[in-house]
Amino acid sequence: MKDIILFGVQGSGKGTQGKILAKKNQATVFDTGSALRSIAARGSELGNEVKSIIDSGNLVSTEVVMRVIEDFMDNAEDESVFVFDGIPRNFEQYEQFEVLMEKVGRKPNALLIDIPREIAENRLLKRKMCRGCQKIFGSNFTEKECDDCGGEVYVRADDNAEAIKHRIDVFFSDTVPVIKRYESENRVIRVDGTPEVVEVATLIEDEDELFA
Ligand code: AMP
Repeated sequence: MKDIILFGVQGSGKGTQGKILAKKNQATVFDTGSALRSIAARGSELGNEVKSIIDSGNLVSTEVVMRVIEDFMDNAEDESVFVFDGIPRNFEQYEQFEVLMEKVGRKPNALLIDIPREIAENRLLKRKMCRGCQKIFGSNFTEKECDDCGGEVYVRADDNAEAIKHRIDVFFSDTVPVIKRYESENRVIRVDGTPEVVEVATLIEDEDELFA
């Protein structure tokens, strides 16, 4: 497998699919949201600032986001394959991300997991997450502990109706133009994200170009 950027509106299942894809192909996921949430959990001045931005559903500054990914790439092994989840999210990040990728000699294509807005909103209103391994659960999961790592299952502070709507709006206004840019460079593979997790994973596996 080659490096890949994962795109999809919040609730599209991109985090879940990214993990499945990475596990099957010995790739490493760079999950921007998780990286920022761990900074937010530190309680430092920067952490508190990042936390209030995340909780409001807004985007953290490009400067902070780029610092986090640059740090990650500095420690990356040359032979590793990456799944970039949650970056670039707007045009400013696209430009800086592409410069960074060029600097480290990588040119990832993108995978878009496509779902309609209404499905995204419904899924986000019902989802829970593991504080330990960040696994996502749908409405049918009622346990308090993660079935993978035993971590606490919680509802994210930004998974409330107002922040959900705002994040989805930001995806359409800021991230979709970036996806269109990659599309104009023939670098996007689009997969239907509406079926069950296992089925979407199979659709992704069927995309030979990802693995060429
Ligand atoms: P996610 O887990 O991808 O839904 O991200 C959760 C939150 O983290 C977002 O709503 C933003 O506040 C922040 N975030 C994640 N990725 C980025 C990014 N590339 N740029 C700015 N903020 C981000």
